[in-house]
Amino acid sequence: MIRVENLHRHFGGFRAVDGASLEIATGSITGLVGPNGAGKTTLFNVIAGVLEPTSGRVTMDGEDITGLPPHVLFGKGLLRTFQIAHEFSSMTCRENLMMVPGGQSGETLWNAWFHRGRIAQEEAALLKKADEVLDFLTISHLKDEKAGNLSGGQKKLLELGRTMMVDAKIVFLDEVGAGVNRTLLNTIGDAILRLNRERGYTFCMIEHDMAFIGRLCDPVIVMAEGKVLAEGTIQEIKSNEAVIEAYLGT
Ligand code: ADP
Repeated sequence: MIRVENLHRHFGGFRAVDGASLEIATGSITGLVGPNGAGKTTLFNVIAGVLEPTSGRVTMDGEDITGLPPHVLFGKGLLRTFQIAHEFSSMTCRENLMMVPGGQSGETLWNAWFHRGRIAQEEAALLKKADEVLDFLTISHLKDEKAGNLSGGQKKLLELGRTMMVDAKIVFLDEVGAGVNRTLLNTIGDAILRLNRERGYTFCMIEHDMAFIGRLCDPVIVMAEGKVLAEGTIQEIKSNEAVIEAYLGT
């Protein structure tokens, strides 16, 4: 689905991503690991249109998407999860989900005055969808809770839920398991697996927790010093000498 070819992203003279090439297969849950500073987040940000590449190419299903802005990629079904922004923390979980899809009729003043029936219909459909998403993620009981009151893991589930409000094809997850307790980590893992198997989502995830990666990801891509160092199953990666050396060197 995604092909990254000889991608570079430099900051001044520093090569954060230094000629990385990789592929993310349709239907896979691809893990991206590597020591701190390897360039994983920068690579994610370039693919997701948050940062411009210095050079190189990114394609999605054969179409050149290099440097396209996030909202255009969003329209193509390529999403990157973001932390719930501060200004949304006083909104409920349900409201946070309902505001994800753009292009709602109520957004224009004209429609607000003259097409109230349509707006009400759209809102009812969004509400239904938001409740389905909350149910899927097993957090229905939190629907009226303000996002700011959620635990770290619950916030991660809500972030995942936001990708379910639109027709996502591929979702980039940045450390979805960081600082999350085991029980919620399992819930998040279950949701990712079900989205992958039942709804055909492709995932690419940066993660440090090897047990979590081992449960979810195949293949696992290892980055070091801005390049792809190795790729394989979790077992292959763990016994790869170059990988062990890269981790020990930091
Ligand atoms: P990782 O996610 O693998 O830990 P990052 O992509 O966050 O790695 O960072 C790779 C390197 O690029 C780090 O050394 C980091 O300090 C540097 N870097 C990242 N973003 C910037 C930036 N905006 N300006 C300068 N250096 C940056």
